[in-house]
Amino acid sequence: MTQPLSRTLRTPDELVAAGLVPAGAREGAAAVAARYAVAITPAMAQLIDPADPDDPIGRQFVPDPAELRILPEERPDPIGDLSHSPVEGVVHRYPDRVLLKAVHVCPVYCRFCFRREMVGPQGLGTLSPEALDRAFAYVASHPEIWEVIFTGGDPLVLSPRRLAELTERLAGIGHVRIVRFHSRVPVVEPERVDAALIAALKASGKTTYVAVHANHPRELAPAARAACARLADAGIPLLSQSVLLKGVNDDPEILAALMRGFVECRVQPYYLHHPDLAPGTGHFRLSIAEGQALVASLRGRISGLCQPTYVLDIPGGHGKAPIAAPFAVRRADGVYEVTDYTGATHPYPPATD
Ligand code: SF4
Repeated sequence: MTQPLSRTLRTPDELVAAGLVPAGAREGAAAVAARYAVAITPAMAQLIDPADPDDPIGRQFVPDPAELRILPEERPDPIGDLSHSPVEGVVHRYPDRVLLKAVHVCPVYCRFCFRREMVGPQGLGTLSPEALDRAFAYVASHPEIWEVIFTGGDPLVLSPRRLAELTERLAGIGHVRIVRFHSRVPVVEPERVDAALIAALKASGKTTYVAVHANHPRELAPAARAACARLADAGIPLLSQSVLLKGVNDDPEILAALMRGFVECRVQPYYLHHPDLAPGTGHFRLSIAEGQALVASLRGRISGLCQPTYVLDIPGGHGKAPIAAPFAVRRADGVYEVTDYTGATHPYPPATD
């Protein structure tokens, strides 16, 4: 970086000027930017080492021509949002909860994004007032909906006033008990997390959770840690959400440091996602066997507080499935073979003499 940044980088020329894309690679970055949204906040840009072409933060945000290689198994809606959308902006995949996607804008655009065909300036946009009315009417008319999850896009790009409008509307729906926000803002734009925003996340009579998205321990910089502390101090329980990504966190030490970092920030490790089959993201994907080995490497070696659930969103919209390798396998004789944290196996119940 030649000088400290004060605003989000959005164009190939800005990336070149900031030293994040070599001048000779400008055309490749421009070809990607013409297809998929680009944004790198100052907080993330200053974490990227421009001298390291494999920088794990840069890899998440700097456009890469590899994104234009679309593989046959990849799909525009990898987790089947659209096939489970009863009204615009709502995804009702499981009985007791819905996603409410009020906005399809993000403070940063992740190169591996599972909704990359829906987010950004050319994406699905922000719900109109009428569409928002229909979304809340759907929630109100389905008493089985216990939890509403605001996602997008990133709901925390909305102003506190707009957020408060959303939470106040939920406050009036008795059967909704839990309001959850999924966001990258506490990490990538931590200065947004101020008292007004925190107050707006709370809905009268409901419990608010915030799921914080980060993928590398360096993202949990002092400002991000302070933003998490402001949320936690305000009594908002925090959960983590990460994606297992080749070249970013596919390393036992990095993954352990990330999970420990979350716990230090009072963010409970929750989901570690296997990367979805989003278009042009093949260079981020590892095999499930590799993912299982990485997740197994956390077990026992680091605190039980630091263990996320490794999940796959089944393509087609069939929901999440935990995919960690089982630690107890039933043998043909009915005895279980149980694997300890060193990888050694033990029969259960143990043999009697
Ligand atoms: S913040 Fe979430 S929705 Fe937005 S680009 Fe990143 S992964 Fe996609």
